Amino acid sequence: MTTSTEPMANITDISNSPGVQSSRLMISYPENMTDVTNMSIHVMGVLQSTLELEKLIELFDDEMSAVVPHDHLCYENPEENIKFDLGKTGRHSSSYSLVLFGKNMGALTISRNTKFVDVEIEKIESLISALIYPLRNALLYKQAVEKAYNDPLTGLNNRAAFDKSIEQEVDLATRHGHSLSLMMLDLDRFKQINDNYGHIVGDAVLKSFADCIMECMRSSDIVFRYGGEEFVILLRNTELAGAILLAERMRKNIENMKFDYNNVKLNISVSIGLSHFREGDDRFTLVERADKLLYKAKENGRNQVVAESKS
Ligand code: GH3
Ligand code: MG
Ligand code: MG
Repeated sequence: MTTSTEPMANITDISNSPGVQSSRLMISYPENMTDVTNMSIHVMGVLQSTLELEKLIELFDDEMSAVVPHDHLCYENPEENIKFDLGKTGRHSSSYSLVLFGKNMGALTISRNTKFVDVEIEKIESLISALIYPLRNALLYKQAVEKAYNDPLTGLNNRAAFDKSIEQEVDLATRHGHSLSLMMLDLDRFKQINDNYGHIVGDAVLKSFADCIMECMRSSDIVFRYGGEEFVILLRNTELAGAILLAERMRKNIENMKFDYNNVKLNISVSIGLSHFREGDDRFTLVERADKLLYKAKENGRNQVVAESKS
């Protein structure tokens, strides 16, 4: 392993505790790939076959298993809220924090019940050097995908994310008989808020609305800004009765919400249409029925939930 004066990748051993192989080390890799071992080049080729982070770590684990048998591999990146644990933790471990161009890219730990010998440590480090660029690419890809599916104003999933999710959820409901409810929410008389107080206040209302509905939810994965002041919630494994209770709780929370922005105090309300998956439904029919029920809620005077009757 040669050392360049301009380190490209720093792999720092961060292990310290008893039973953990330690010796702090800093390795630098040259730009010239011919200095990397054949093994690393082979592994790099394998790892470059995917941009999916989870798949990448699984491939890396497979490659590592072939060279250094181990019981457990963990990749953790708290900044990105990522943790992949493969296998069962052993008594001896070797841990590395991964840094590229000064950027923290998480930490990798492998462990097993027998000690790692020096030659294995060398192999582990060589393999990690092959992981570092594919890992950087996978992290960038993950960030790009998340950005593409995110609504910047509310922080919720956007319409593109909804189109992807509804396809999957309807497929699960159709093929596996999972229960699925769809809630469509629309802020009442929102245009008046924009007209009376301006778009900045309107935007702040949308953000507060999104925060308020998120307080009622188990997971952010299923709440979407469908467009403008319309939102959709996909409720997997939720029967109609449970979905009605949740919709009603949300409606009340919004009604009781104290909106205060730069001394503009407002009461807002929401109308909700609620449909439930039936045999023969596709994504369009499920959305269409929720939309019609929402329209009914508006016609009936707003600030209410209209759910379809059980089929
Ligand atoms: P209804 O109770 O019938 O739903 O009435 P409404 O006023 O809420 O509905 P309408 O469809 O007439 O108006 C929706 C308004 O939402 C019009 C549009 O300018 C506003 N809007 C859509 N997207 C945004 C946004 O991102 N920010 C702000 N401030 N306003 C938005
Ligand atoms: Mg609307
Ligand atoms: Mg509206």
